Amino acid sequence: MIVLKFGGTSVGSVENFRKVAKIVQATDGEKIVVLSAMSGVTNTLVRIAALLSSGDTEEALVLIKGLHDKYLAVAKDLIESDDNYFKAQVVLKRHHQVLLNMASEPFSVKNEKIIMAQGELVSTNLFQLYMEEVDGHSVLLSALDFMHIDQYGEPRTEVIQNRLTKVLANHQANTFITQGFICRNINNDIDNLNRGGSDYSASLIGAAVAASQIQIWTDIDGMHNNDPRYVDHTFSVKELSFDEAAELAYFGAKILHPQSIIPAKEKNIPVLLKNTFKPESKGTLIHNKAKTEKIRAIAAKDNITAIKIKSYRMLMAYGFLKKVFEVFEEHKTSIDMITTSEVAVSLTIDNTSRLEAIKNDLQGFGNIEVDTDLSIICIAGDLAQNKKGVTSAIFNGLKDIPIRMISYGGSNYNLSFLVKTTDKIAVLNILNESLFSELILETT
Ligand code: ADP
Ligand code: ASP
Ligand code: MG
Repeated sequence: MIVLKFGGTSVGSVENFRKVAKIVQATDGEKIVVLSAMSGVTNTLVRIAALLSSGDTEEALVLIKGLHDKYLAVAKDLIESDDNYFKAQVVLKRHHQVLLNMASEPFSVKNEKIIMAQGELVSTNLFQLYMEEVDGHSVLLSALDFMHIDQYGEPRTEVIQNRLTKVLANHQANTFITQGFICRNINNDIDNLNRGGSDYSASLIGAAVAASQIQIWTDIDGMHNNDPRYVDHTFSVKELSFDEAAELAYFGAKILHPQSIIPAKEKNIPVLLKNTFKPESKGTLIHNKAKTEKIRAIAAKDNITAIKIKSYRMLMAYGFLKKVFEVFEEHKTSIDMITTSEVAVSLTIDNTSRLEAIKNDLQGFGNIEVDTDLSIICIAGDLAQNKKGVTSAIFNGLKDIPIRMISYGGSNYNLSFLVKTTDKIAVLNILNESLFSELILETT
């Protein structure tokens, strides 16, 4: 079984739906196709929910109508047979009605999640009707029948595996189509795996069915050595180890959802990143045989907050760090980076929803300083500590950039440091020059 996931741009128009169908048809054997919402749709749904939450029903209804009109136009152009076009209209009417109902009910978080799920539900329905026309039999599976998360928002992998296996056993088909992103939570209500979560769905599904490969099809030819949104002259990296890919995804390479590599890594399933618009280009293969030989890639993660706890009395005492960590554990807030000195410990978080409570709980430990609007720059590749010149190659060019924290030596394949977000683009560009200029020449 192969899992093929197509992101928002890949299903963003009639023309692109057709491209996706061709790629699916060209893939031999059994496959599960995981789709995102059409590009821009989840953003619109988030906006609709925000308008409803602030009581602006009128504006929300304008957006709801806009979405419905857009879908109708897509269905008309995409689907040829009268029969399937009729089915598409029925589906679209149903989803339109769900949003209209949401607009007439009092706003709640539960309803917000229902609203956000409509994008994937529509794109998969339309695609399945189209596939039926061009490829014969295919089966639409509802991710809500098998994708489950626990009370902490973490996937329930055993439940997913058991349910998906049962669902698949009920059908005879080569091509299954399902939604990325959406799931059910511990109360059995509709929920999601956070923005960009369709990659995570694909990886969880791949792990659940022990797929031979997980393919992530997007709008770029694989993982680039640096963030192409901020840096010119980036190039596609041919292969990555699971650890390198996981670090890059976690530290901001938007091409992959932060957690999406973990299920594939655990089951040792190769992940292939491919470009829907250039299927002939090789993309990036993430697997356990990738040899880490050089610095591979850089990524940046924004919205980082640093917390410094200064304590002359306690830092050297046994158990001090344990107590500090317990505060973060208590508030279910994960720490990204940590550095210590004799009198202070600095750490970073990206989820600030519990910041005030954390600060309160840390008060008794010493003097607390909080710094916001920071970015972590992550460099992944061969960064073995016994290698000469690695750190100087990284930091030489950055002499004019204030660096707030450095984390190195935690693993052999990662070095990260913290800068002001206003310096991020400069840092990414300087590092592209200093670390990759030879490779850029080779690839251009
Ligand atoms: P999809 O909708 O297919 O999930 P995303 O927009 O989530 O696509 O991810 C693809 C985008 O990720 C690219 O268009 C690119 O702008 C961005 N990106 C950021 N960092 C990288 C990187 N290191 N390599 C490739 N793409 C990256
Ligand atoms: N549609 C969702 C989003 O835009 C999930 C995804 O595309 O991965 O965040
Ligand atoms: Mg994405």
